[in-house]
Amino acid sequence: MARKAFPCGHKGRGQYCHRCVQEQRKQQEQEQVLQERQAWNELFKQDPIDLKILPARSLVEKARAIIEQIAQGAMYTAFKGKRMNHDRTVISIPLSRDYRLIYHETSTGYVPVSLMTHEAYNVKKPGEKF
Ligand SMILES: [Zn+2]
Repeated sequence: MARKAFPCGHKGRGQYCHRCVQEQRKQQEQEQVLQERQAWNELFKQDPIDLKILPARSLVEKARAIIEQIAQGAMYTAFKGKRMNHDRTVISIPLSRDYRLIYHETSTGYVPVSLMTHEAYNVKKPGEKF
């Protein structure tokens, strides 16, 4: 088959311009990546506490799983959560070596109040063991 000029101006063989199709596909892939990123960013708006500081997607997903299960009635102890000595209504749940989910016990149940780094936690409560 001879090379021919396509309506787009490119030259090539075949029924259609492979170059344009390839570029179109690449663009679609980029748009999809962008859409997925936007969808991922949108999810943070639904979290009861800000989880954006977490450095890994897996940690965000772990935090959401814990938050959801506790909202559905799971006990914080199932996630190695502990009541704090200085305030027994405050519960710290380890998310990783560096992050803790902080809950507050209220009359209506356990409410997530913040996400803390291990470091910030130590600064805020010097001498506290957990
Ligand atoms: Zn073309």
